[in-house]
Amino acid sequence: METLANRPHHFMEAFSPIPPKWVESATHALTFSCPRCGEAASVATAVWINRRAPVYTHNHKRKWQEFYQCECGTAWWAWSSDRPPNPWQVNEPQEETPPSLDPLTGLGDSWGSFEP
Ligand SMILES: [Zn+2]
Repeated sequence: METLANRPHHFMEAFSPIPPKWVESATHALTFSCPRCGEAASVATAVWINRRAPVYTHNHKRKWQEFYQCECGTAWWAWSSDRPPNPWQVNEPQEETPPSLDPLTGLGDSWGSFEP
C-alpha cells in the first residue's frame, strides 16, 4: 500500500520527463477541477505536466496534459488549453509589473496637476 504523502518536493516533479506513479490512476477532468471534490488545481499536492507529448490544436497552438493530485487523494488531468485564467494562482512566473507610465506618452501620471 503506497502512502500519498503531501510533501512539497512533489512539485519539483512537475517537469520531470518520467511520470510519477500517481499519474497512472488519473482521470480526465473536463472542468479543470477535481472530479471528486471539485477543488481547483491550485490546491493540488502534486503536479506533473506531460511536456513530452504535446498535441496541436486546430489553431496550431500546443496543448498538453496537466496532471494534478488533489488534496483529497484523487488524481486527475486536463488539457493545458482548458485551464481557466487564475488571477489567484501564484505558482506561475508572473511578468514584472510595468511602472505606472502612461502607455501613450511614456510619461508618469500627470493627472495630479490638473484641477478636477
Ligand atoms: Zn479532490
